[in-house]
Amino acid sequence: MDFRLDEGLEEFRQMVRSAIAEDLPNDIRDRQRRFGGLQSDPVDVLEWTRILARRGWTVPHWPVEHGGCGWTPLQLFVFQDEMIRSFAPDSCWGGTHMVGPVVYTFGSEEQKARFLPAIRNGDFYWAQGFSEPGNGSDLANLRTVAVRKGDVYVVNGQKIWTSSAWASDWGFFLVRTDPTVKPQRGISFLLIDMKSAGVTIRRIPQINGESDLCEVFLDNVEVPATNLVGEEGAGWTYAKFLLDHERTTSSFIYFNKKEVALAKAMAASHSLDGVTLDKHPRFQGRLARLEAEVSALEWSVLRTLGDEPFQYPEAAAASVLKVAGSRLQQAISELHVDLQGVQSIRLYPHEVHKRPARSPLWPEESEYVTQRALILRAATIYGGTLQIQKNIIAKVAFGL
Ligand SMILES: Cc1cc2nc3c(=O)[nH]c(=O)nc-3n(C[C@H](O)[C@H](O)[C@H](O)COP(=O)(O)OP(=O)(O)OC[C@H]3O[C@@H](n4cnc5c(N)ncnc54)[C@H](O)[C@@H]3O)c2cc1C
Repeated sequence: MDFRLDEGLEEFRQMVRSAIAEDLPNDIRDRQRRFGGLQSDPVDVLEWTRILARRGWTVPHWPVEHGGCGWTPLQLFVFQDEMIRSFAPDSCWGGTHMVGPVVYTFGSEEQKARFLPAIRNGDFYWAQGFSEPGNGSDLANLRTVAVRKGDVYVVNGQKIWTSSAWASDWGFFLVRTDPTVKPQRGISFLLIDMKSAGVTIRRIPQINGESDLCEVFLDNVEVPATNLVGEEGAGWTYAKFLLDHERTTSSFIYFNKKEVALAKAMAASHSLDGVTLDKHPRFQGRLARLEAEVSALEWSVLRTLGDEPFQYPEAAAASVLKVAGSRLQQAISELHVDLQGVQSIRLYPHEVHKRPARSPLWPEESEYVTQRALILRAATIYGGTLQIQKNIIAKVAFGL
């Protein structure tokens, strides 16, 4: 297969690049750049979504009838590449890549009319309420219960590791509506207003100095029955659909490419024994290996987007990309830390927050290197752990 981008695609890239340059506010770009483009502030995310909405570009991957752009997979790939390259914030993944597709595929007409435009326009930030204490990988045995009482479900239970719940307006939750049947059959998919009475959110301090992950407690929360997506008891099917969607996009290829470029820039500006690190054979060897792996991953992603039929079921391909992409993220961030040597420890968040935002002694991009390496330990956990991905590959690709 020939993956070179043809002229039309290059033109498309230039068009996207200049649109982002025109639209992206400097302060948002600077914040995103300072944190290395890995995580975005929810406020910035929604503001950028509202700006992008003017061009109709907030959910380009959705079907056209729901507000998608009708772009080809390669155009979508180039669009994402340009967004990351330009330090634009991500979209609210929970809305655009998770609950949105579930709502337009399985939701009621009323839910489509209410939530799809809101997701497209950046009205709400969304949280994913799946994992519970003791039920992360073993999600099918989740214990949060929802009991139907007239027009409402009364929900009781606890979720954990809920990203950005503290900033979220809405959450999509997996709840048990029938404890008497096989675990997978008794789960339903509920949309819950995070401001509802009985919802308590507690932020969890993280080793990287942030506290974006949360515990969410649900005590007699009354949720209108009209917020049930699809059929009662079919939540597991919708969750699997959603998680496959999530994994297909988790190769982090755009991010990995940018991070390799950052490693090169850092190596060129750090010296050892009077020689810049990019001239040291040990660095060159590590970099060459990582660059080869990033190229291989990019080609694998393009192959799954191309016309060539894939040998294995899609779920296996998605898991392979997730395993490769998340491990690469970790390996590249570890190289960044090694490049900084002792400075990595000095740049630990508590130190960062005490000093002025700009320091002539340290390169701007390197500011969050240690924090990023720490949070990236989680890349092989969220969205299904490394071991769970390997189980999926063993099962669906090799029938083990
Ligand atoms: C940064 C971050 C963000 C997250 N965001 C969200 C979110 O927004 N919403 C949400 O719902 N959840 C979120 N999670 C939770 C995440 O989905 C779970 O942590 C993950 O599914 C693992 O579950 P667990 O933590 O209960 O670990 P466990 O399932 O207890 O796993 C512990 C260890 O045992 C291994 N293991 C478990 N079962 C098997 C098996 N069958 N075979 C082999 N090995 C196994 C695992 O691989 C892991 O190494 C987030 C997690 C992190 C770290």
